[in-house]
Amino acid sequence: MEDPKKVAFYTLGCKLNFSETSTIARSFKDEGFTRVDFNEYADIYVINTCSVTDNADKRFKTIVKQAQKSNENAFVIAVGCYAQLKPEELAAVDGVDLVLGATEKFKITNYLNDLTKNDMGEVHSCEIEDADFYVGSYSFGDRTRAFLKVQDGCDYKCTYCTIPLARGISRSDTLENVLDNAKKISDKGIKEIVLTGVNIGDYGKGEFGNKKHEHTFLDLVQALDTVEGIERLRISSIEPNLLKNETIEFVAESDTFVPHFHIPLQSGSNEILKNMRRRYMKELYVDRVNKIKEVMPDACIGVDVIVGFPGETDEYFLETYNFLNDLDISYLHVFTYSERDNTLAAEMQAVVPLKVRKKRSKMLRGLSAKKRRAFYESQLSKAKTVLFEGENKEGYIHGFTENYVKVKTPWDPSLVNTLHKVDLQEIGEDGIVRFSYVEEGVLT
Ligand code: SF4
Repeated sequence: MEDPKKVAFYTLGCKLNFSETSTIARSFKDEGFTRVDFNEYADIYVINTCSVTDNADKRFKTIVKQAQKSNENAFVIAVGCYAQLKPEELAAVDGVDLVLGATEKFKITNYLNDLTKNDMGEVHSCEIEDADFYVGSYSFGDRTRAFLKVQDGCDYKCTYCTIPLARGISRSDTLENVLDNAKKISDKGIKEIVLTGVNIGDYGKGEFGNKKHEHTFLDLVQALDTVEGIERLRISSIEPNLLKNETIEFVAESDTFVPHFHIPLQSGSNEILKNMRRRYMKELYVDRVNKIKEVMPDACIGVDVIVGFPGETDEYFLETYNFLNDLDISYLHVFTYSERDNTLAAEMQAVVPLKVRKKRSKMLRGLSAKKRRAFYESQLSKAKTVLFEGENKEGYIHGFTENYVKVKTPWDPSLVNTLHKVDLQEIGEDGIVRFSYVEEGVLT
């Protein structure tokens, strides 16, 4: 009997891409393939690309080369956002055999009858308007956490963003499917589920193929809260204008949803927010942060921010810096603006020089470190619950509390995927928190 063919995957970008790689990998398994690590010999290498990644083309070429190093005759397939946006560009990369767009990636195994290599990669793509159907996904980030896709695409028109072009209109999984997938994940012994999507606050739109909201994001949160066996649910990233008081209040009362929010701000200047076509002003953002802190004083709040957007003068940048400095938030994810083809922002005047963008990014990363430290300090001497992760990092095991404080202790395999009540004690030189156990033994 012939040995099963081997397939390896590489994922760039967000949690949503990770969840979709898992779904694609399962379809290979159903066809009898064996999954191996990307640095091992495989017959097929699948690269799930991202359009947000800086130097996406350079990164992609390096990954293709890595695959060829393991097997020079391997069949290389590119899928994902970048494959949808620039299929011809990827197909022209030496060694690439097949490029599948947004509608084709989940039918990948239909393309495996002929694995002959050609000089030029074959493209099977579509107009993004055709990407109007929904494919549910979930993945296991490690052995302790799963990413559950609940929504895809986006109907917003932020002027810097290519995601609507790469992923299509906003559409959602049915509530029934989401609950079903959540149950499957918890049955596998996974303790934490992270909800993912492009714009998850828009949940319910396109749920049954129409543009109306059949359910709201709050309905989703309330329904998930009742699924038995899930220890923790984390809302990943949610637009501030879609994060309603009712959801915040529900999370505050829930034993399963954790007090951690990641809310994109992008700029602390209303002028820049308008030019970005964001759907809120900074006053609404302050209001969201205050509401969360009012009902969950220990909540962790992460913020996405973009520096160097066209027209961001020194004054506007300082306005953003001071705004964030004054706000009760816990960390920042800083993105340096870079022009993307086919976006309105790429045509805008008053371009910020690259050197200035880099300097501003550095300043905000410094502010982020300060915010994180202040947040961790505010949590010392408090009792929290830690979920330990599955990786041995230089002799240590790491974990996160419900409110996303990172802790570490010497490696002990019996801790993996267990929850423990701990007392947060001090911040180490590496910025990670040390703890003592409040109670002996495992919670679950
Ligand atoms: S909300 Fe704006 S930034 Fe986010 S995916 Fe939609 S268009 Fe892009």
